[in-house]
This record gives sequence, structure tokens and C-alpha cells, in this order.
Amino acid sequence: MRLLVVEDEIKTGDYLHQGLSEAGFMVTLARTGLDGHHLAMTETFDLLVLDVMLPDVDGWRIVQSIREAGRQTPVLFLTARDSIDDRVKGLELGADDYLVKPFAFAELLARVRTLLRRSSVPVMTDQMRVADLILDLPRHRAMRAGRKINLSHKEFCLLELLVRRQGEVLPRSLIASQVWDMNFDSDTNVIDVAIRRLRAKIDDDFETKLIHTVRGMGYKLELDDEHD
Ligand code: CA
Repeated sequence: MRLLVVEDEIKTGDYLHQGLSEAGFMVTLARTGLDGHHLAMTETFDLLVLDVMLPDVDGWRIVQSIREAGRQTPVLFLTARDSIDDRVKGLELGADDYLVKPFAFAELLARVRTLLRRSSVPVMTDQMRVADLILDLPRHRAMRAGRKINLSHKEFCLLELLVRRQGEVLPRSLIASQVWDMNFDSDTNVIDVAIRRLRAKIDDDFETKLIHTVRGMGYKLELDDEHD
């Protein structure tokens, strides 16, 4: 796990660097806001530990800037400021937690571990996209090239499965068990019929075909494939 610590106070910085390294993390220490900001924007970390009061670019601006750039790295603010306003401001800007100095190292470590655990849960996004096909998951809607496509519940589930596992050949048996909750022994013709219907809606009117048959194996969804 890679951590970036941004702290301008020499002693605190050294202490954090040493303590977190001994706890088994790979720690990069930045002693200025500018360095910290640059590192947070250009390298990949699992967590940022940011001091708020930095003489050049403060911790708030770092968080604001990385969130605006779409980076979701969890952030723990570390600061001597402890007014409610500051706390709220930090959290509103997209910090994940807040620890007021002076703090016990054990508490910092516990919070770091909690944040890392929380962020390792995959983020569920509301949309999936392949080329010009967009799936709106909460609403069970599909669009291609800006056109709404009417799908039945099963058709949507089938398409979602194909999109989630794009590039992978999905055997009929797997599709049957995932979408219809039935075994391979059941009527697999159902799958072929459903795929044909889905293709008619997703692919027929479009030049670029997304759903492909892999003979003797199953189906897959992929952009630019020669199998068909
Ligand atoms: Ca400081």
C-alpha cells in the first residue's frame, strides 16, 4: 500500500514517515504543498495524509484539485485546526476523514487502515459504457448513439452481463445460469433467441457490431472483432 504524506513540519513529517513505514506502508513524504500536489496528481497512491496548513498550496486546495481531476484517492486530513467549520469544509471538499493534532499514532494508524479497507471495496458506478452504447444501471435503460433502446428486463440483464465481461467469451451455460437462473440442460435455445433479439435492438441498425458469436463456444461483446 502506497501512502503520500504531505507535512511541512520537519519533526512531524519524519515521525509520520518512520511510523507508517514501520507499520508496513510504502511512504512518500512531501514537505511542501506544491510537491505534494504534484505527486498526488501524477502518481498513484492508495491514501493521502494531508496537513491542512502548508505555506504554499494548502491541504484543502490539494484535495479540491485532485477531486476536480477525477481522482478518488482517499484523503485523511491532519491538522491543528479543530473548529467545526474547518472540519465541515474539509469533508465537503472531499476528504474522507479528519484527525486533529496532537494525535496518538495508534489512532492515526487505525484510521488509515479503516480508510484503506473502505476504499478497497470496488466502487459501483451507475453507468457502463462500450463505444457508443451506454447502460444506465439504476434505471435499467440502454442507449446507443444517443438513441434510447427498449429492452425487456431479461434483455437488459443479458446485455449487462455481456458488457461487464466484455471481451470474454461467455458460454451459453454461463449465460443461462447468470441471467435465467437455469442449468445448461435446460433449453439453451432460449439463449440463442434472446441474443438474436438483443442483437436486433443493439446492433442491427448500427455499422459497428458489438455482440459476436464465437462458434462452438458462446457469445461475447467486444468492439472491433473479426468473429461474427
Ligand atoms: Ca503545517
